[in-house]
Amino acid sequence: ESLAKVIDGKAVAKQIREEIAAEILRMKDAIGVVPGLAVILVGDRKDSATYVRNKKKACDSVGINSYEVHLPEESTEQEVLDSISRFNDDPSVHGILVQLPLPLHMNEVKILNSVAIEKDVDGFHPLNIGRLAMRGREPLFVPCTPKGCIELLHRYGIEIRGKKAVVIGRSNIVGMPAALLLQREDATVTIVHSRTMNPEDITRQADIIISATGKANMVRGSWIKHGAVVIDVGINPVEDAKLPRGYRLVGDVCYEEAMEVASAVTPVPGGVGPMTIAMLLSNTLTSAKRAHGFR
Ligand code: NDP
Repeated sequence: ESLAKVIDGKAVAKQIREEIAAEILRMKDAIGVVPGLAVILVGDRKDSATYVRNKKKACDSVGINSYEVHLPEESTEQEVLDSISRFNDDPSVHGILVQLPLPLHMNEVKILNSVAIEKDVDGFHPLNIGRLAMRGREPLFVPCTPKGCIELLHRYGIEIRGKKAVVIGRSNIVGMPAALLLQREDATVTIVHSRTMNPEDITRQADIIISATGKANMVRGSWIKHGAVVIDVGINPVEDAKLPRGYRLVGDVCYEEAMEVASAVTPVPGGVGPMTIAMLLSNTLTSAKRAHGFR
């Protein structure tokens, strides 16, 4: 028996970034507009600083202007709201990102709701999520990680319509919007979560599995139907004394076992992760085009 195909998210993301860079040049030549992304970082979390740095680098690589506001941990909620308000009013900014988590003394819901829906490139605004859930309505932006999962399926020519899909996880940022997107693509969708009984039996029915639980190697080969497609969103550190940093990253899915039964599998790292950032760039470009009526 042959092993599953590896879905190379890193390569697809690179191709998408090249397409975005070309499109940005076309817009700049035609109307002199360059897309802009503003990132607001509050506090000194190392992981958050790394994410922000990576987003800035990705913007540079395709020609998106990035603007960063770094506020100290002890800032007030009002100071964050003021930064957002300035970016809401700034026509050179087409996307606004608030890096999460925010310090505990801030109201995350209030802050996220204050981002103008036309600049909500994360797609987390309730109006965007609501439109995603409704037939005949179009969200302005779709959350980046689930969008990246669907884009991988498209680019690998994997049919979604009529297929049974199981999404493991129901978070606002990954699982729930992934299920909504699959349904929009005419899959028949089941959602598995921490209270689901017999998750293994349900998952084994799926033609397409998207897992986003944050539980390392939870999905075993025995959970996967022969020939199914597996999209592994999880990014989980596990101890590895052989590495200088003491840990390595694995997905939610036991990769070696999945490779034996599935027809295609995303690796971790190098699968969904690079796609998430590519979709953020894509949403920012879309926003700039929409703001200037450029097609
Ligand atoms: P959350 O912790 O917000 O959500 C996890 C979900 O998994 C919950 O819905 C939870 O169920 C469900 N779950 C937890 N344990 C089980 C279980 N034993 N069986 C079934 N379901 C379970 O996580 P996120 O959605 O934010 O992230 C999930 C993973 O994806 C993480 O590893 C994260 O690092 C990664 N991630 C990767 C990204 C990328 O770019 N590749 C981007 C974002 C996240 P319940 O609702 O019942 O609690």
